[in-house]
Amino acid sequence: MDLYEHQAKELFARHGITVPPGRVAATAQEARLIATELKAPVVIKAQVKTGGRGKAGGVRLAPGPAAAENEARRILGMDIKGHTSHTVLVEKATGGFEEYYAAFLVDRANRTLLAMVSSEGGMDIEEVAATKPHALARIPIDALTGVDLDTARLLAASAGLPEDVHDAAAATLVRLWEVMVEEDALLVEVNPLACTSDRRVLALDGKVSLDDNASFRHDHAAFADGADDGGLEARARAKHLNYVKLEGQVGVIGNGAGLVMSTLDVVAYAGERFGGVRPANFLDIGGGASAQVMADGLEIILSDPDVRAVLVNVFGGITACDAVANGIVAALQTFGEEGPRCPIVVRLDGNNAELGHRILSDAGHPMVRVVTTMDGAAELVAELAAA
Ligand code: GDP
Ligand code: MN
Repeated sequence: MDLYEHQAKELFARHGITVPPGRVAATAQEARLIATELKAPVVIKAQVKTGGRGKAGGVRLAPGPAAAENEARRILGMDIKGHTSHTVLVEKATGGFEEYYAAFLVDRANRTLLAMVSSEGGMDIEEVAATKPHALARIPIDALTGVDLDTARLLAASAGLPEDVHDAAAATLVRLWEVMVEEDALLVEVNPLACTSDRRVLALDGKVSLDDNASFRHDHAAFADGADDGGLEARARAKHLNYVKLEGQVGVIGNGAGLVMSTLDVVAYAGERFGGVRPANFLDIGGGASAQVMADGLEIILSDPDVRAVLVNVFGGITACDAVANGIVAALQTFGEEGPRCPIVVRLDGNNAELGHRILSDAGHPMVRVVTTMDGAAELVAELAAA
């Protein structure tokens, strides 16, 4: 999950990194109020999850509350590279500073963690790397030893930061590393990392990407976008299902993102011959297709009123097809006497496929049809959805 600048700065502040005082506003009036409270010139900053806001006119200085209101009105709703700015950050402006760059990230190509520090901040780091490579220190960080003050001083020196800021910069770098490790981030970036004339170091911008696989260890839920409307996708998320609602009529369940993607394709292709029937969703139930996961998946898909038929397409691997078939039979029982409200086509292949087929035919559920090929299954489910 990528964070907004104001959220990144909230994490920075929690770890003792200095950030300018300020708050986020959703209306121009609110921006004016915050500027009044801060009793100082402010910067109004578009909150969008993309860079280059400055160049796009999404970062503006305002000498006082009235200007703050005007700038906020201009920036709210602004489109920056396809992202709409629904809120602005109103922050006390920092005057007269040098701009550096600091980041820690996962360097997948080299299978390591990487520190990138530069004395040339403010501009795109790609540009610095291309035009002034000597001003960019790229130093691998050992995950076990991490970044202590000595390492951080070395980073500051290698990046060519002035000597009289090494101590302050190093202290900030250690804290930034703490954010990386303690918050389970994949990327923490500060550009510009500002150094004022009285040699204070503060984060004027912030970019943080959190590792969603570690979300259970954290209390980061408040950072998630408020797009949750209690709809199907939110319900699916609550059941830990990887579900995306689409516009069509065929519910699709499969195991593995690649298999589900290709199932969507064959369903859409087959659907062309049945009046343009299309997939209604993406749902990947992952490896362990247990009865409970199958029941949860079917329940979500069948609550979509557009769905007229369902295709279950599973390739048996570690979880063999007989276990999946038993899962389907058990899931069907959760629908009680009347059964699911529309037909379910099942295609099982891979480990123990024949045993899986036998389990389903022995169960003899009137709403379930077994087809052995993917194309055949897509054809039948499209036909049933069109009927
Ligand atoms: P980005 O363009 O999306 O990376 O947004 P930034 O937050 O980095 O802002 C862009 C530029 O605006 C920075 O490089 C700074 O030069 C400038 N800027 C940001 N905050 C302040 C501030 O408080 N005072 C002043 N004078 N300039 C600022
Ligand atoms: Mn920036």
